[in-house]
Parts: sequence; structure tokens; C-alpha cells
Amino acid sequence: MFASVVIDVSTSKLEKIFDYIVPSCFQVSKGDRVLVPFGSKTNIGYVVDLKDTSGYDESKLKSIIKRLDETPLLTEDNLRLCFFMQKYFFTRLIDGIKLCLPPLVTSGKVKESFVTYAHLNTDTLNTKNSKQLDILLYLREHGKVRQDALTSHFSASSLKTLVKNGQVVLSKEKQNRTPESNFTVEKKNIVLNEEQLEAVKRITRSKYNTFLLHGVTGSGKTEVYINVIRSVLKENKTAIMLVPEISLTPQMFARFKQAFGDTVAILHSGLSPGEKFDEWLRLKRGEARIALGARSCVFAPLTNIGVIVIDEEHDGSYYSESNPRFHTHEVARFLAYINNCPLVLGSATPSIESFYKVKTGEYSLIKLQSRANKKELPNIEIVDMLLEVRKGNINMFSYRFLNELEHCIEKKEQAMIFINRRGYSSFLMCKECGYVPKCEDCDVSLVYHKEDNMLKCHYCAKRYKVLTTCPKCGSSSIRYGAVGTQRIVEELKKLLPNIPVFRLDNDTSRDKKEFVRTLESFNKTSPSILVGTQMIAKGHDFNNVTLVGIIDADVSLHFSDYRATERTFNLITQVAGRAGRSEKEGKVILQTYYPKHYVYRCAATYDYNAFYKREISMRELSHFPPFVSMLRVLVVGQNEEKVRLETERIFVRLKQIREEYSSDFVYLQAMKCPKKRLQGNFRYEVMIRLYKKNSEVIISKIYDVCRDVKENKVSIFVENDPQNLS
Ligand code: ADP
Ligand code: ZN
Ligand code: ZN
Repeated sequence: MFASVVIDVSTSKLEKIFDYIVPSCFQVSKGDRVLVPFGSKTNIGYVVDLKDTSGYDESKLKSIIKRLDETPLLTEDNLRLCFFMQKYFFTRLIDGIKLCLPPLVTSGKVKESFVTYAHLNTDTLNTKNSKQLDILLYLREHGKVRQDALTSHFSASSLKTLVKNGQVVLSKEKQNRTPESNFTVEKKNIVLNEEQLEAVKRITRSKYNTFLLHGVTGSGKTEVYINVIRSVLKENKTAIMLVPEISLTPQMFARFKQAFGDTVAILHSGLSPGEKFDEWLRLKRGEARIALGARSCVFAPLTNIGVIVIDEEHDGSYYSESNPRFHTHEVARFLAYINNCPLVLGSATPSIESFYKVKTGEYSLIKLQSRANKKELPNIEIVDMLLEVRKGNINMFSYRFLNELEHCIEKKEQAMIFINRRGYSSFLMCKECGYVPKCEDCDVSLVYHKEDNMLKCHYCAKRYKVLTTCPKCGSSSIRYGAVGTQRIVEELKKLLPNIPVFRLDNDTSRDKKEFVRTLESFNKTSPSILVGTQMIAKGHDFNNVTLVGIIDADVSLHFSDYRATERTFNLITQVAGRAGRSEKEGKVILQTYYPKHYVYRCAATYDYNAFYKREISMRELSHFPPFVSMLRVLVVGQNEEKVRLETERIFVRLKQIREEYSSDFVYLQAMKCPKKRLQGNFRYEVMIRLYKKNSEVIISKIYDVCRDVKENKVSIFVENDPQNLS
């Protein structure tokens, strides 16, 4: 018997599978982690296949040294996903494998944790030693007690004697480091409405198929997911529930915990490695059968999957931007296919690509038309900021908004203020010569953070001293750039000194616990104001929020990529959806310098279909996805000349491919990336757009070219359908 083994080496650029002999003295299964001889050393590897013959010279093959675990770490489905990702996303097998395993498991640093308990062996307390008697009495009263807790109160040596005499027994038990949900959600007895029932019925009756569940915010999509999953569990199957990382709110978690108890395992970046490991293990052993988490949860070790749900499917976080790069939808779709189960994509603002797939018949549409609380969606009022300036208001808040804010506070209600920019001001600029401080390692301007009086790079987190005089011309008149969260909070405190203001952005919520605390405090305080970035746009369900202010709606519109308008539309809809979720009516004030832009007109009337029509015709005319496949070959390295040369070399070879398939290429161009340098690395790119017809064949040829890197210390990434083009 022979095993195909993927070796765990990070440096190898080569994607090669090695064959080893399986010794007759032990068994090996697919998915096993094994120790193998590799070169002059030994190395860890993963068995991805077993076979009777090897294509290589069998006499030269070496043998597997040993298996490292009792059961295979990787499921059969995990392995199939890895091969799929290799083919579609240029993902190295070993990188795919690591996505399937909890962090640090491979290094052996995280292990299962056990706790020792002590309990009485007999009912008769037979001792003359008073210290021992104390222990026995305590155990009689409390039953089973953790050994460490016991010895922190009582003598450890007395306990030892009692154990030796057989009066007390110690037992080891597996300890689950299960993340706690300390957020309480009120228990509602929800009776699904007709639309919801129909949705659940269609999904649960289906085999492999992709459903797009399109329902406005608050239309009860989550309730649909919960009911679908409940029915899947009844059939003894398992479920994967994916949500964007930032909307993995305590509320969402609490709702699932309430519905499913310990059957749900949660996986997100806020967990400790130990917690992640235990949640993973609970899934692997079948103790938990629902995996709830952000995108990498699609690799959860489940078998017999009955449904996969991707909530807020339009969210950019489903595309992994750092290595390994992959698109969660495609991975989930493949997983649904091999499990012959439905995939549900839910959103109030489906991505243009997904909605297009409904039109072409690839996806099936399910609609939820009204909000579950039967309330209208909050009214969105557009305020022209240019007009404000003409009226003499150069403040960041419009008169309209201030007016509404006062009302809101008077009524002891809550307001949320959304600005997609953290820090105090987006940059500093010398008024005399126009100098703008930039990061040494990145091609971006530094953001001013007033709190710690620093300039920070938002790409590499490097910090710099703040400017008081211009280093170029010596002038001391420095101008602030566009407002960020910190400056808004400062302004609010001036305007409304007695009203509590909370802030949520990447600076305040590095720590997940801190994030939850802020949400809870805001939830409990009325009147109050919450200022935040996109972090506050999703998922939250606050009953007393009646006003939402979008301070600078145009921020995301200015990004120079073809999804900018779509993203703006989504953000507005999401943020607006935070208002008026319970009995009280909500209101939204949207401040912009482009009040006539179609994105605002469509968003203000919640007209997704009108927006889709404008957007899709634009994409078709300008040859952008979903009408073409878009790829970016990213070449990165510290030495600019090497990066340039490598880019050039790849470009030349891609041009050869274009010669062969000239009618399939829409676009092929090599250039510097918009952010030419990040974290000290130079970045060049080749952008490619292909008509769909032959794109699969061409993409695999492009991958072949990119696998073959010539320059040392230059990395090449290929992004299939990239979300972020910076
Ligand atoms: P979505 O996921 O579409 O934003 P949710 O499922 O979170 O919507 O539902 C919004 C609110 O309406 C929640 O508070 C939920 O408990 C409630 N809800 C959902 N469905 C119903 C229903 N059929 N009857 C009453 N309340 C419902
Ligand atoms: Zn200057
Ligand atoms: Zn930087």
C-alpha cells in the first residue's frame, strides 16, 4: 500500500505530492497526520490518498515513520475541498489543509484540556485527623469538586493521604473550553409568517441547489435559518452557518445558543486557541452539529451536512484577501454539491453577481417582502451638504441632523452615527506647501489619532509622532483632512455635554470582550449616542434606536473600483436597517455632496431592483463581472527591480496565452498597484479580464505560469475575482 502525502513545509514554492510506503505494521487512513522522512530530516505530512501502486519507482520510496494521531485530523470532505481550492483559487494544498485545522494544532502547542475532580468513595467519614476531616466534610456537602479548587482551601498533603487510603477518588475529565454567551436575548415564541414558512419548506425539501433569500433587514431571515437548521438536525444531519466576522454579534450567538444549546459550536477570531480547539473537537466528535462562524468555518470538520447558510452574502469579508485567498461562496457551493444539500445565501442587498445568477437561472430566488414586526422601513432623508455650506454651515453635522438629534435625545431615545473612517482626521496637510505625511513603508497617508496624539498607518499599524510644523517648509499651519470617528465624538461632547457617547471602531474594539461591553452599555443607556464605522452597520438589534445619521455617505463611493457604488448601496441599507426595529418609528439622515447620484436615490427608496438594473447594465457595457472573469496577479517583494522584472516576465507569458485565445481576452495589462508599497513591500499587478466561455481553461493556464516563479524573494498571488483592488 502507498500513501500520497502533502508535506508541511512553508518555504517550498513547489506544489508536489510525495509517495510513501505504508508499512505493514500499522494502519494509515486518508486524512491522517504522519511523520515521514524528507530529505535528510523528518517532516510532518498529511495523507491525502491511498493506493495500491505508485507511479514512481517503488524500490526508491521511503516508508511512513508513524501516525501522529489516533483518528485522522482531516475529513474526507476537507480533503476534497483542498483539491478544489487548489484548482480554483491557486491555493497550495498545505495552506488548504491548515484552513481545516484549528490554529496551533499542527505545532502541538494546543492540546485537549483535562480537569481532575475529587469525590468521596464511601459515606463513612473515618479519620482522626482534623485536616482530613475538613476535606471529607466539604466533599460530603459539595459532591464532586475540582481538585485545584479543593487544594486552594485545604491541605494538599491531607488530600493525598485520603486518596492513598482510598477514601477519596480522583477522576480526570475532559474540560471543554466553551465560549460563553453572556448576552441575553429575550425568549420569544415566534410563529413563522406565511412567507417564512414557504421559504423553510422550499429549502428543506431541496437537495443540492443554491437559494438566494432576499429579504429586507428585519424580515425574519435569521428565523428562517434557525427553522431550516432545526429540521436538518432532525434528520441527523449537520449544518454550517456563516456570518461576516463583524456581524458575529453577541446577539446572533445568543440567539443560536438559545435555539440549539450545546449543539452549536462557534468559531471566530476572538476565541483563544484553546477555545477554538475544543469547539473544533466538539464538531469533529459529533458532540456539536452546527458550526457557526466567519468564513473559515466553511472548513469545519462536519460530515453529512444538511444545509449551508451564508448570511449577509454580499459582504466583502467572504473573500479572503490574505493568503490563502479564496471565495467562500464557491467553496460552500462545492461543499453543498458533494453533500447534495441546499446552500442558502441571505441578504437584504444581494451582491450584483448573485442576483445576476438568479436571472440566469443558476440560483433560485426566495423573497421575504415585509418586516417581521410589520413596521415600515425607516424613512431616509437625503441632505445636500453643498447646500449646507451655502447656508453658512461648515460643521460636520447638517442643521437637519442636529434638529433630529435633539428630538431624539429629548424623547430619551438612542441615535447611531455612522462614519466609515476611524481616527480623528484622514490626514494632516501643510496649508503652505501641501505636504502630507505618509508611512515610510506604505504608499498611504497617515491618519491622525488625537486620543494618543499620534499619526498611524492603517495598513501596517506603524506609529509616528504628530506634526506641529511642516518638515518641508517649516510652516506651523496644519490642516485636518476628512473627519473620523474620534472627531465626531469630540464634537458631540461639545454639543451635548451631558449625553453618553459610545464609540465602536477598530481602535476601541481590538478586544472582542471590550466590543461586547460597549454594545451592552449602549444597549442599557438611554438617551445615548453610538458612533462607529461599518462595525455598527450589521446585525445589531437595538430596540430604542430611532435615529441614524450617515455623516459622509460618499466615503465608499470614492474608492476606485467597480464595486464602489454597490458597496455604498449596501452600507446605507444596512445602517438604515438599525433604526426603528421595535415599536418606535425610525428615521435616517444621509449627508452627501452628491444628492442626485442614483445610488442615493435607489437606497433612499429601498429600491433594490432599480439599483440592480442600473448597475448590471453598467457592468455589461463596461465588461466587468459578472459578465467577465476578473483576475489579478499580484507580485510582491522588497526589491522593486526584482518585482518589476518578475511582473514583466509573467506579463510576456500571459501575452502569449492571449495570442492563442485572443477572442477571449477583454483586458490584459501590467502596472503598479494603486497602493504601490505596503508594509515595505513593493506591489505590481497584472490585471486580466476574460469572457466566461473559455475562462476555466485559460485560468488554469494562468495558474501554471504563476506557479513557476523565477525571482528569489518575490511572491506571486493570483486573485480570482478580487474584492479589494488596492
Ligand atoms: P433578519 O435576519 O431578516 O434581519 P430577524 O430574523 O433578525 O430578521 O428578525 C427581525 C426581528 O423580528 C427579530 O427580533 C425576530 O425575533 C423577529 N421576528 C422574526 N420573525 C418573526 C415572526 N414570524 N413573528 C414575530 N417576530 C418575528
Ligand atoms: Zn509645508
Ligand atoms: Zn504603513
